Amino acid sequence: MGDYNGLTRQEYALALLRSCYGYDSFRGQQWDIINHTLDGKDSIVLMPTGGGKSLCYQIPSLMSEQGFGIVISPLLALMNDQINALQQNGVPALALNSEKSDAENRQTVDLLMQGKVKLLYISPEKLLSEIERWSSAITQRICLFAVDEAHCISQWGHDFRPEYTQLGTLKQRFPDIPVMALTATADRITRNDIGKQLNIPEARLFISSFDRPNISLNVVQGSTGRQKFRQIVQFINLHQGESGIIYCLRRKDTEKMAADLTRLGIKAEPFHAAMSVSEKQRVQRDFINDDLKVVCATIAFGMGIDKSNVRYVIHSNMPRNIESYYQEIGRSGRDGLPADALLFYNYGDVVTLQQFALQSGQVQVNMDKLRSMQQFAESGVCRRRILLNYFNERFDHDCHNCDVCDNPPDRFDGTTFAQMALSAIKRADEQIGMYTVTDILRGMRKGEIIDKGYDRLKTFGVGHDLSTFEWNAYLLQMLQLGLFDVAYDDNKHLKITEYGNEVLFGRQHIELNRVQRRKFTAKKEPDTPAIVLHEAASGKQLDQELFEKLRDVRKAIAQASKIAPYMVFSDKTLQAMATEKPTTMSEFGILYGVGQVKCQKYWRPFTAAIRNHLSPND
Ligand code: ADP
Ligand code: ZN
Repeated sequence: MGDYNGLTRQEYALALLRSCYGYDSFRGQQWDIINHTLDGKDSIVLMPTGGGKSLCYQIPSLMSEQGFGIVISPLLALMNDQINALQQNGVPALALNSEKSDAENRQTVDLLMQGKVKLLYISPEKLLSEIERWSSAITQRICLFAVDEAHCISQWGHDFRPEYTQLGTLKQRFPDIPVMALTATADRITRNDIGKQLNIPEARLFISSFDRPNISLNVVQGSTGRQKFRQIVQFINLHQGESGIIYCLRRKDTEKMAADLTRLGIKAEPFHAAMSVSEKQRVQRDFINDDLKVVCATIAFGMGIDKSNVRYVIHSNMPRNIESYYQEIGRSGRDGLPADALLFYNYGDVVTLQQFALQSGQVQVNMDKLRSMQQFAESGVCRRRILLNYFNERFDHDCHNCDVCDNPPDRFDGTTFAQMALSAIKRADEQIGMYTVTDILRGMRKGEIIDKGYDRLKTFGVGHDLSTFEWNAYLLQMLQLGLFDVAYDDNKHLKITEYGNEVLFGRQHIELNRVQRRKFTAKKEPDTPAIVLHEAASGKQLDQELFEKLRDVRKAIAQASKIAPYMVFSDKTLQAMATEKPTTMSEFGILYGVGQVKCQKYWRPFTAAIRNHLSPND
């Protein structure tokens, strides 16, 4: 046990937490993890995105008097982000990587030798080549190895990186240095494999709840084309001035979406793998700097950024599995303030994704994962329950922050509807796809319908009372219930199952969830946001006008010092300012997220803006 200037270990850790980061207490298991590491022991840390993993290795590194912590991370962008954030807080953090010049890297090694670095960020391949060359003067200063994105070491994970596999040798070479593996991927196979691959069989497992209660979960079924676009616009308009990501399935969808939104005055840009590196960097930078609010992206976007004030994530198409979905929505609301996730789910997505799955190397696994995703989208019970159960977490109450909890489904006997649909399919000799079924039921005299003589079927027009949107949504439910299958080897025509026949002939009944057309309206006050807790604790109210002014101050500072606005202060800290309205340095210094270094640097411009707001005539 070290001596911490007469403080206990925990007191010292808390003092650092306050002075460096401006936080007053550890969250969840953070302290246990830190304490365990300070005992010199290995750990595997499972926490959702935004859960606060980085503090777990940063604090022990800061507490080590002479030493430094090594953070192994696969993404350069992520490293740079973390280093910037640490430097903002006055922590000496550096990276060794191939992007830097040899001279820069040599200088970093010198600083390591002199004990002037607290955290070293490095890629796995660089570490292994580098560490061979280090003298014992450096290696004896290493106080921990933190393996970030540790699921990359496992072939079972969704993001295997061969360069991670060599990391297993670290424990053999440095048996006494604690290893901390961190990931936001929860599944059991991957988790066990991480311990094995890193040679840390005794590692203690720290599993946090994967719940992100501040993210509101919403699904819209059945919308397509223009209607979907209108709903997206409506939704974005409720989030004016806020940052959001729209995920699309294909490159061309991102481009179209961005162009269509921009035409309506919502400035948006696409982001996808085929863009040049510099274009991608520009979009990412503009987004981080709050100069661009909306990005329409394929899945690649968001990996390397820590932007804490993303307020919404829209999935304009259904993702292939729950893991991806959860990771993507997890990019919103990292600051703990309310965020919105909106998922669109229609028949076309199911068809496309099933085809992807069938063409993939692991058909069974991918089909199962897709089915779970569909169950989530179709769910008639609280969506958070489904999600967390999927991650093997017990969650036995309704969340009151999802669309199902907000609008419990209205179930009704849908047998007649099903019979109409099934009968249309049967009469067309099972030679039609989903959208044609809708057209027949609604009595649409379109080319294909007339050409094939479907307008003479007995079922033609029997369902004209329902809109296209409603039929599409009900057919989707029927597919999910297993009344018919999609024949991928026969032009995606629908084939009635045995169960479907039972329903068609009235031997079985089915229930459907009534389809409601979703209108997006301003949300009621959310239940869980941190700021509400903050207001409740202090009895003060957030001054929205002041908040906007403080945002401008932050923006100006960020521009002048060429860093992202959220690196200056998070939205949550600005909200604390706009609520507490500090006018002196000491009042400013105790705010959430204001550490010593930032207090020194920034108290003047912010308190000046607050004073000016309170008495504009002075
Ligand atoms: P992760 O790496 O798990 O995605 P981060 O380490 O980036 O999460 O933390 C997410 C956010 O929560 C950051 O803004 C971080 O500063 C903040 N945070 C972490 N720990 C605490 C804490 N104990 N109190 C307040 N905020 C915290
Ligand atoms: Zn719910």
